[in-house]
Amino acid sequence: MGTNKYNIDKKGNWIPNEPLKPVPLFTTSKPFEILKWIFGWPGYLFPWLSIYLAMAVITYLFFYPSLNETVNYNISWTSQIFFKNLIIILIVFGGFHTYLHTFEAQGDDYRYNIKKLQTNNNFWLFKNQTIENIFWTCVSGCLVWTLYEILFIWMYSNNMLSTISFQSNPVYYCLLFFLIPIWQVSYFYFSHRLTHWKPLYKWVHYLHHKNVNTGPWSGLSMHPVEHIIYFGTCLIHLVIPSDPLHVVWHLMFNGLAPAAGHSGYNEISNKKDGDNSLPHASYFHYLHHKYFECNYGELLFPFDKWFGTFHDGTKESGEKIFGTRKLKE
Ligand SMILES: [Zn+2]
Ligand SMILES: [Zn+2]
Repeated sequence: MGTNKYNIDKKGNWIPNEPLKPVPLFTTSKPFEILKWIFGWPGYLFPWLSIYLAMAVITYLFFYPSLNETVNYNISWTSQIFFKNLIIILIVFGGFHTYLHTFEAQGDDYRYNIKKLQTNNNFWLFKNQTIENIFWTCVSGCLVWTLYEILFIWMYSNNMLSTISFQSNPVYYCLLFFLIPIWQVSYFYFSHRLTHWKPLYKWVHYLHHKNVNTGPWSGLSMHPVEHIIYFGTCLIHLVIPSDPLHVVWHLMFNGLAPAAGHSGYNEISNKKDGDNSLPHASYFHYLHHKYFECNYGELLFPFDKWFGTFHDGTKESGEKIFGTRKLKE
């Protein structure tokens, strides 16, 4: 349940009590611990995965064109999908930002870096970090997300993909919803490492890394080429049998997860003992924004551990990865 002990460093930045470690799925063979991680709070399913999954299902059931309508391209159903995605982005990214950074509803409690997001600085488009991030998220991020979604829905409608239904394969159908995020973080590790290849970093990925101190809108603030790579995770549905709802969910998980992951706060909580908190962010990924050449993936799948780029937040871990060259705080 939350954080037992509230820790801050000399500057007032929140730091975890213990070194970070991969999730139990890969560190233990005890079934009870794995089940606790899957169904516990915070765990694999709760709170965020289940919230986003519910949003995907609800929007698909009630705010989505039918597959009969999407056989031929037209502006009506394609713009319906675009605005569905845009509204969801505004609610989720905007919600985190408004609560944590505009209203500062919990001050600096659980904040990774107590420096404010930058304003009035020519480094940013429109001289404002948040506005630049909103711009890339809504203009490029939402568009690329929507284009992939339109492409897949159109292909499903025209029977160009191998499909399954709940009736034909109930177990596989349900399981796929929970395997998709695991695939996504695996894909993310390798595609993210690719974007750290010098030419790609210099022209493309630098844009995301302008955010050393992150806010929710930093999450999807990427160069259009990076959006194409990032949302390209859904191309797996070209080869695995699935249902349109799986693709809708896949893209929504991919699109929304970065909001919490970059929020800049470890949890939403009005108490420093962490009780009743809504845990959400990723200190692991915050360290990637702080130190760049570590933690390319997510804790969900320990590729960083296997490839020697796992930074657990401790000084020793940093020295192991970087030697002594990057240890200035
Ligand atoms: Zn990031
Ligand atoms: Zn990066």
